[in-house]
Amino acid sequence: MNSRSPSSPSAFDSKYRCSTTVPEQEPAPPSEQIFSWGRYPKTVHRSVHKPAWNDQLPEILGAAAPHSVLPFGLGRSYGDSCLNAGRDLIDCRRLNRILAFDELTGMVRCECGVSLSDILEVFVPKGWFLPVTPGTSFVTVGGAIANDVHGKNHHCAGTFGAHVHQIALHRSDSGLVFCSSNENPEMLRATIGGLGLTGVIAWADIKLKRVAGPWIDAESIPFESLMSFLDLTHASNKDFEYTVAWLDCFAGRKTRGIFFRGNHVPSPGKPFHPKRGPKLPFELPTWVLNRYTIRAFNTVYYAIHAAQKPKAVVAYGPFFYPLDSIRQWNLMYGKQGFLQYQCVIPETKLEAFEELLDRIAHSGMGSFLGVLKQFGSAPPAGMLSFPRPGLTIALDFAMRGERTLQLMRSLDEVVEESGGALYPAKDARMSPALFETSFPSWRNFVPYIDPKMSSSFWRRVTGSP
Ligand SMILES: Cc1cc2nc3c(=O)[nH]c(=O)nc-3n(C[C@H](O)[C@H](O)[C@H](O)COP(=O)(O)OP(=O)(O)OC[C@H]3O[C@@H](n4cnc5c(N)ncnc54)[C@H](O)[C@@H]3O)c2cc1C
Repeated sequence: MNSRSPSSPSAFDSKYRCSTTVPEQEPAPPSEQIFSWGRYPKTVHRSVHKPAWNDQLPEILGAAAPHSVLPFGLGRSYGDSCLNAGRDLIDCRRLNRILAFDELTGMVRCECGVSLSDILEVFVPKGWFLPVTPGTSFVTVGGAIANDVHGKNHHCAGTFGAHVHQIALHRSDSGLVFCSSNENPEMLRATIGGLGLTGVIAWADIKLKRVAGPWIDAESIPFESLMSFLDLTHASNKDFEYTVAWLDCFAGRKTRGIFFRGNHVPSPGKPFHPKRGPKLPFELPTWVLNRYTIRAFNTVYYAIHAAQKPKAVVAYGPFFYPLDSIRQWNLMYGKQGFLQYQCVIPETKLEAFEELLDRIAHSGMGSFLGVLKQFGSAPPAGMLSFPRPGLTIALDFAMRGERTLQLMRSLDEVVEESGGALYPAKDARMSPALFETSFPSWRNFVPYIDPKMSSSFWRRVTGSP
């Protein structure tokens, strides 16, 4: 794996390729509306480059004006960190070849547009799994590195970036730069969690982990207070690789939810058939999701999980990616889209966390997708990595204009006072002041930004051009 792979078609065993016929680069349309996952904000881009080969990137970067371009993956960031309003995007989805795999170490080299679901499809049957995975598999390797994503095993495995051993980065000022712990280590730390601003990741070496198969020994345990959630977490951290909780956000500080935990296990002897779920074909009318329907959903969801068998061996898909079974579920929030609020609050500030839950419950605007997790204490892999010790909560809110933004500003107050942070991958509206609180040393990152790169998010929170 020390040899550097070519940027154009390699002779690599074609059985590992995700696509065999790759069209040439299409001419960019004059303007294109590209959405992030929350479909808010609605932005128009000047052009969207769609390279099919990595060696087209130097030309695209060379021709770009300063502060004008941003790489784009599968657009699973919720807000504007993957958008570049009025400027250009480099859509990396066709850079999707798996270039090499070392069966002894589990090291895979893949282009930036390979998705985590591609990796799982190829390598799970061979007994390998992702070292870290977020709550959707429809995320590219480039996007997973640029947001240094975390998963249900943060307490024992850290973030995705901690498992990236080498990257090749196309920069407009210095060409192809190789970064690892031995070569340009600071550029590697800047690019992990670097929001796509340090250049275009061409390919990355990621160390997969050995697993017994596609099965998870999963448990679901109801809890009825924040303290019992914490007790469950502390009791599970040593023996369970994956822990996370669903939270009923209408319950306020008397929170209730379902705690999920699990480990990889060998086959239980039943056949494994990955399923492809239905697709939501259009945006639902705004009135479908309201406090009554969401409250009813939460009550039923809690009751079903509280009543079902607490232990089961399940396929990895439903355990890690329950939402991936409904494609385009984001259309459920209607034309105005939605925002996700994900923050982390130090565990020493439990009263702040309870205050946050109270404000959400009183607003009556919560969602049915509340997720709660305790982050571990692994040192951050990137300069701007979001995870840090504390409790993280992620909640979706239908966009209802000023009413929604006002609630979020009131949650910001709590986060700011507690010394917590907001996750850029989920954000579309945090203030520069809250960004400063969340990432107090962001200025140390600035020298690593590629002079041609910019994003809507970065301009909004730092005021840069
Ligand atoms: C249902 C759902 C569940 C999620 N669960 C989690 C979770 O559990 N944990 C978590 O951490 N996140 C989670 N996320 C967020 C998601 O994992 C991140 O936003 C991820 O970065 C999206 O990757 P993407 O390929 O869609 O990239 P995009 O959203 O398109 O882009 C993300 C960033 O990557 C940059 N980028 C893309 N390609 C490259 C490249 N080749 N080189 C350099 N930069 C690049 C972009 O410029 C942008 O800054 C979830 C999202 C959804 C929709």
